[in-house]
Amino acid sequence: MAETGRAAVFLGPGKGFEFRELALPALEPGAILIRVTLANVCGSDLHFWRGDAPLALPADGWIFGHEMTGRVARLGPGVTTDSLGRPLGEGNRVVYCYFYPCGRCYVCLHGQRAACPNKVGRATGPSEFPYWVGAFAEYYYLRPGGFVFRVPDTLPDALVSPVNCALSQVIFGLAQAGLAFGDSMVIQGAGGLGLQAAAVARDMGAARVIVVDQVPARLALARSFGADHTLDLTELPDRRARVRQVRDWTEGRGADVACDFVGFPPVVPEGIEMLRYGGTYLEVGCISRGRTVDFDPSSLVWGSKRIIGVVMYDPWVIPRALDFLVRNRARWPFGRLVSHTYPLEQINTAFADSEWHGRETTTITRAALAP
Ligand SMILES: [Zn+2]
Ligand SMILES: [Zn+2]
Repeated sequence: MAETGRAAVFLGPGKGFEFRELALPALEPGAILIRVTLANVCGSDLHFWRGDAPLALPADGWIFGHEMTGRVARLGPGVTTDSLGRPLGEGNRVVYCYFYPCGRCYVCLHGQRAACPNKVGRATGPSEFPYWVGAFAEYYYLRPGGFVFRVPDTLPDALVSPVNCALSQVIFGLAQAGLAFGDSMVIQGAGGLGLQAAAVARDMGAARVIVVDQVPARLALARSFGADHTLDLTELPDRRARVRQVRDWTEGRGADVACDFVGFPPVVPEGIEMLRYGGTYLEVGCISRGRTVDFDPSSLVWGSKRIIGVVMYDPWVIPRALDFLVRNRARWPFGRLVSHTYPLEQINTAFADSEWHGRETTTITRAALAP
């Protein structure tokens, strides 16, 4: 195996990526070096790339990206199994968490690993060990104790690459929101997360799934992922009319669960309004700090509603996400979630093509990079 590899180093918003040849790291006990086979451009990557929120970048740039899959290139001392105790060897296909709950804080102690405040460390640059800290590169360094799972042979990489971010985030979020058999649900946003949420909700036994978006092609895709009803913002521009429409589809009550997968704060009060009394709102999309919205909290009080914020997930989700795909790969067109694949060399083009903000439509659902 070569002792170096290539990485796309991000220089900052507006500056794009530049390629560097980096040394492979010496492995600490418990670490794993992974050869990345497919890395997706996630919505949050676009936020960074665009510069939606201030970023403290390392002086020598930053290797980022987190939604990915790969093969074990080297096992660090002491690693013989995956996180379920199954034998693990070089060349095995794996999916893994890209964040690291510390296990030594008040939050971890209370069993809330997804909420651990230390799970994402400070961003390190490509000249600082372990160098390979992001998906847009030939290798990824899974730190000691990182959660890793073997991938069933029946699943192709294009289905597996969304597992460690979008799909697991969705499954964990719906579990936290308490989505139950027979529930009705509103999904705001038919991007990568929203589409998978429609399918997961169906699999969890939701009786009625409603998807809201403004791009007709995405809404059509939402229907093929199990949505019963789609609501096109451009056809129904009045917010009150949209809320009424959701009530009409839910026997006048409103939805049991509504979720933000858009990441545009003004959708939040509307989603909360679409809930029934006692319903739960799941907030996942808004990751850029400092963006606010006017909101009347008395609607929570008088409506006995809850809001739950979720970022990332507890690692138990990953094997269940893989099972979900094995079980349902013929039922829904997961192959269409990664709509475009680019060689890693074309990462600047892939990001530019994925840009949706301020555009009417885009043909890209999710772009993938193959190192
Ligand atoms: Zn992501
Ligand atoms: Zn912790």
